Amino acid sequence: MIDPNTEFETVIGLEVHVQLSTDSKIFSTARARLPQGQSVADEAVNANTTPVCTGHPGSLPVLNKKVVEYAIRAGLATDCRVNLKSVFSRKHYFYPDSPKGYQISQYDLPVCEHGHLDIELGDESGKRVGITRIHLEEDAGKNVHLAGFSLVNLNRAGVPLIEIVSEPDMRSPEEAGAYLRKLYAIVTCLGICDGNLQEGNFRCDANVSIRPKGQEKFGTRTEIKNVNSFRFVEKAIEYEVQRQKSVLLSGDKVIQETRLYDSQKNQTFSMRTKEEAEDYRYFPDPDLLPLVIDPDYIEALRETLPELPDQKRDRFVKDFGLNKYDATILTSDKPLAEFFEAALKVLPVLGISAELGGAKSLANLLTGEVSRLLKESEQEIHSSHFKVEQFAALVGLLHDKKISSTAAKQVIAILFAEGGKVDEIVAREGLTQVSDVSTLEPVIDQIIAANPKQVEEFRSGKEKIIGFFVGQAMKATQGKANPALLQEIVLKKLKG
Ligand code: ADP
Ligand code: MG
Repeated sequence: MIDPNTEFETVIGLEVHVQLSTDSKIFSTARARLPQGQSVADEAVNANTTPVCTGHPGSLPVLNKKVVEYAIRAGLATDCRVNLKSVFSRKHYFYPDSPKGYQISQYDLPVCEHGHLDIELGDESGKRVGITRIHLEEDAGKNVHLAGFSLVNLNRAGVPLIEIVSEPDMRSPEEAGAYLRKLYAIVTCLGICDGNLQEGNFRCDANVSIRPKGQEKFGTRTEIKNVNSFRFVEKAIEYEVQRQKSVLLSGDKVIQETRLYDSQKNQTFSMRTKEEAEDYRYFPDPDLLPLVIDPDYIEALRETLPELPDQKRDRFVKDFGLNKYDATILTSDKPLAEFFEAALKVLPVLGISAELGGAKSLANLLTGEVSRLLKESEQEIHSSHFKVEQFAALVGLLHDKKISSTAAKQVIAILFAEGGKVDEIVAREGLTQVSDVSTLEPVIDQIIAANPKQVEEFRSGKEKIIGFFVGQAMKATQGKANPALLQEIVLKKLKG
């Protein structure tokens, strides 16, 4: 019987499927990706297929070169070794969404191996997570279940995927979440994945086990299949860890199995156990030659890698004095980072230097209020009403103390909801900050006259009470007064 006071350690390894954003499929000329602005829902069923996608006898797969390029880019960005020779294998299983009766994947010789990825944790510490392998494979189609019958849509069959398999190096749901966010930032930054989570462009299988602290041998793992939200992966792992603990503490054994996560119930439940696991009968696909990559090609690709999220983060910290946390948030979202840099370019036009606080103001608003509104409205910054020039103009007004930070948030909300020009919104909503001594003095005189008790407290040494006067004056001016100026006037009056 296990000691009920046993402390456990969580062990997590992740398998991530990344849908590559090539125009055509991995082994056929059928379209893999819809033109901008179109969604999968608008696509005619089975329209994007060729005899290769539908598994017609006699059809032959031809490897898409762009897919190989994208996989190599992913490998280089995660410090993997790119194998000069890799092999496509058939992974056999029967399911209607895969008409060939097998999926083309890579098995013992994947395209990339032995990489790693650095994650940041909340307390500013970091950690390196090993990447075991990256292999190429084709996606399956989709079964559509209707009342009493099912149909098969093969538009997705043959869409290129890379599967990125991590070492079992993560020790908490937060670490798993940080790993996924970083990996997502990298593949979207590389431009090899559209990154649409709802449409399954980036989905994860989480392998989870626990072991008594100090024990070297890993515990038996379960695999939670196909979760496509970072938050849900974290929650699914949290649930699974608790479940495994209670199994062990009740004297039972964790059984190796595949589980599914139900986000509404926040529970995982068994899908199939190891005994039911299929034998995939992997063997090299005789229809495809081994994939041989020229080392010069790899080096040429290395030259064209963009600035990666970690490098960008370090540059933001070094050049603009951002803190690491804000810089990490900005650089984990490519559109947000682009927006930030575009707004930075506008600042000098407004006479503000990026180094002296301008960049920090931009970053604060982008990682705070703007990110919050984007999330809430499920929008993407580039396609929202929120425009770079107006954002920079807003930061300009803040910087010149023409509006308060509370007013800035109000303007941001309006820019989000309906767009428009910052100057006009500020004027229309009466948000201009009052920095005029002759307007503020009478307001303060009145407050001082009406509050003799607080004046007495101040004079007897309780200087903190100044906040009370400033607060009252802010209230009296509906938040429009310049707080620094208010404080200055109040002090002068009380001391004078
Ligand atoms: P399979 O191919 O059967 O899914 P692998 O050995 O390739 O199995 O492992 C898949 C994933 O499971 C990897 O990400 C690996 O890090 C992780 N993993 C392996 N053993 C454990 C364990 N005991 N606990 C947690 N994760 C594990
Ligand atoms: Mg697996």
